[in-house]
Amino acid sequence: MKRDPRDASAAEPDGGNLHVRIQGGPGRGNRPGLLNSEAAAIVKLHGVDKVFHRGDEEIHVLGGLDLEILAGDFLALMGPSGSGKSTLLNLIGGLDRPTQGRIDVAGQRIDDLSERNLAAWRARHVGLVFQFYNLMPVLTAERNVELPLLLTHLNARERRRHVDLALEVVGLTHRKSHYPRMLSGGEQQRVGIARAIVSDPTLLLCDEPTGDLDRKSGDEVLDLLAALNRDHGKTVVMVTHDPRAAARAARTLHMDSGRLVEAEA
Ligand code: ADP
Ligand code: MG
Repeated sequence: MKRDPRDASAAEPDGGNLHVRIQGGPGRGNRPGLLNSEAAAIVKLHGVDKVFHRGDEEIHVLGGLDLEILAGDFLALMGPSGSGKSTLLNLIGGLDRPTQGRIDVAGQRIDDLSERNLAAWRARHVGLVFQFYNLMPVLTAERNVELPLLLTHLNARERRRHVDLALEVVGLTHRKSHYPRMLSGGEQQRVGIARAIVSDPTLLLCDEPTGDLDRKSGDEVLDLLAALNRDHGKTVVMVTHDPRAAARAARTLHMDSGRLVEAEA
């Protein structure tokens, strides 16, 4: 059977080999420029525009954006509210499509994938962490973490193994039967991170992951993201308002009116 290389369903999660395996990413110390085509870019945006329509109004959020992110990078994305940070993160994660331009992530061109193939691609490559955790209140921690695996072919026993491992990585094995309301904000965010890593995605995309946390819980979450980057080879892209959070990243980009500028190292 001939397969279109852009068909993400050709690359289903492989049951035996899932989870935070060491991928040998370069981790910290990797400080590429906005464009650095010699190195192995895991994210490539070329000439990306994003326009939203609200009634008759056109909102030009991103214009002619070029960006490369190397495998194993830990990138912080800062900038004023409304500057397009979440829009950019959503485009990288295949949650939204560009109006114009090309986006390649993890070896796949994603801007022109069908909805079905895009969903399969996302399930395999993208872990999402949100500011307000987005946990299901009626599910226990372990059931919340299991949710992304319901989109894979893993059986119940394999799912349990992956969930246990993810909860162990975030240090919450002892809270697995708790409901979100019984957990602190920091613990809920760590459940959110366990859910994001349970299918062993290539990329972790975090939108203000410490935005709703006190300093101590925020630091714990940042320690965890740094460890996932350093020890598990995850490429991490983190939108943040907090300079303390950005300081944990290997590289910081500032977004202003839809343009990206590299911060001084
Ligand atoms: P940031 O995350 O930097 O605060 P966003 O990416 O959320 O910014 O938003 C950038 C701009 O795009 C804002 O002006 C916002 O109102 C607008 N916007 C974002 N999403 C939509 C949408 N779905 N429809 C219309 N406008 C949107
Ligand atoms: Mg935002």
